[in-house]
Amino acid sequence: MEDLRQQIEKRRTFAIISHPDAGKTTLTEKFLLYGGAIQQAGTVKGKKNSKHATSDWMEIEKQRGISVTSSVLQFNYQGYCINILDTPGHQDFSEDTYRTLMAADCAVMVIDASKGVEDQTRKLFKVCTMRHIPIFTFINKMDREARDPYELMEEIEQELGIETCPVNWPIGSGKRFAGVYERDDKEVIRFIPVDGGKKEVETEILKADDPKLKEYVEDELYDKLQEDIELLDMAGNEFSLEAVRAGKLSPVCFGSALTNFGIEPFLKHFLNMTTPPTPRMADGEVIDPYQENFSAFVFKIQANMNSRHRDRMAFFRICSGKFEKGMEVYHYQGKKKIKLNQSKQLMADERSEVNEAYAGDVIGVFDPGIFSIGDTITTGKKHFAFEGIPTFAPEHFAMIRNKDTMKRKQFVKGVEQIAKEGAIQIFTELGGGMEEIIVGVVGVLQFEVLEHRLKNEYNVEIHKSPLPYQYIRWVKEGTNLKSLNLSSDTRKVQDLKGQPLLLFTNDWGVRWAQDKNKDLELLEFSKN
Ligand code: GDP
Repeated sequence: MEDLRQQIEKRRTFAIISHPDAGKTTLTEKFLLYGGAIQQAGTVKGKKNSKHATSDWMEIEKQRGISVTSSVLQFNYQGYCINILDTPGHQDFSEDTYRTLMAADCAVMVIDASKGVEDQTRKLFKVCTMRHIPIFTFINKMDREARDPYELMEEIEQELGIETCPVNWPIGSGKRFAGVYERDDKEVIRFIPVDGGKKEVETEILKADDPKLKEYVEDELYDKLQEDIELLDMAGNEFSLEAVRAGKLSPVCFGSALTNFGIEPFLKHFLNMTTPPTPRMADGEVIDPYQENFSAFVFKIQANMNSRHRDRMAFFRICSGKFEKGMEVYHYQGKKKIKLNQSKQLMADERSEVNEAYAGDVIGVFDPGIFSIGDTITTGKKHFAFEGIPTFAPEHFAMIRNKDTMKRKQFVKGVEQIAKEGAIQIFTELGGGMEEIIVGVVGVLQFEVLEHRLKNEYNVEIHKSPLPYQYIRWVKEGTNLKSLNLSSDTRKVQDLKGQPLLLFTNDWGVRWAQDKNKDLELLEFSKN
């Protein structure tokens, strides 16, 4: 079992988050470039000048230039096996980001040095902190005029509420950008711009007190650097690995992904500070990643990743042991044994058949429609389920109806499948049928995805009418909704699993329900 331990120990699994355009795609490409996963960094993107990496599968993503779903990439670097889980940058898909973070052991946050903390950084970061995982910051685009680094640090601390600790420090920015000072080695890594950043950069490293440094760094910047070094040592947050691992202190690196600058130092620090796959909880017990029995949970389901074959993949994060192609596992929620035959792993821009994978890795399993988000599969005698992934409360609601009543079957199938993937949530009247379905979403763009997919994948067109609800509350199973005293605009519905819940048009209605029904327990999310 030595091999199993070694394989798992070298694994690192992180999610990458950023406000759109901060450079997440570029940084991901450069990680792959340094990992040797691809020859030319540009090849991750489908077309030149198109803003789409391999992760952007769906047509709608191409049309809108946004990343709707997240993808997974793996590369090897200096004996480590690194999994990057990409996340959608758009806030309307923050639920997907949250699920992806459930599968990650830490997160990398990319920030544009000229812009600092942006809207989406704030929102995604909030989702990130819900998981209490370590967060590493990469301040990108130092080859452009950047804001003052002290100001950037302060903004991150103030706005995001996390302490920061720079592990390196920039010398100038834009045209005057001269490199970064590595605080642990007291060395300067010179910035040597390269054309287009297609190859790894040559690096030149100088001691911070090397007189030669003055040949490269303007006097003013040189003096400023000496001042900064002193100031950071005196006044900066003290580095604490413990605080980093608890998600309380974010190590910060500066660089320029486009010109390949700062990628290796970032990876070095990142690998030094991160841990191999962390244990997960199942039924109140800790599941040790190194145990021989295999276990994994679904954090994402994605349909039709390849328009040529209409397929559906369930993405599993492996939590313990080793996956082998064709292995038989127990699907806890389906209460059945199943064989994992068609499983894929994603490497750069192609999906390849995977024969084995280990705790920390992500595998995509062909899904004939049996999996839901949060499902667990295991080997071994003991059956257990990993703690579920909470469902976010939708904030926008609409009633949808099938335009062509002849296509009822496709309509119901499509809506149910899309809901099972977690792309939307659906509700029906208590005891009502599927002719009219109430759809709830966290972000309005999800409605667009629904309409687009129903049309393209199920050949169904819908009527959609917005509903005025703003709040949703799950109630305890077995609660008799009919006996409740509610305001007249409160609607009683049930979800896919038949769980009862209430829709409110305003918070006044929620308070009314609470005041008039003392024993009523209202929950903001479904516990699954
Ligand atoms: P994403 O939306 O966060 O994935 O951002 P992209 O990686 O697509 O980058 C957005 C734009 O910024 C693209 O035009 C990149 O070429 C550019 N970019 C990314 N990193 C850098 C950098 O370090 N310096 C400069 N000057 N431009 C960059």
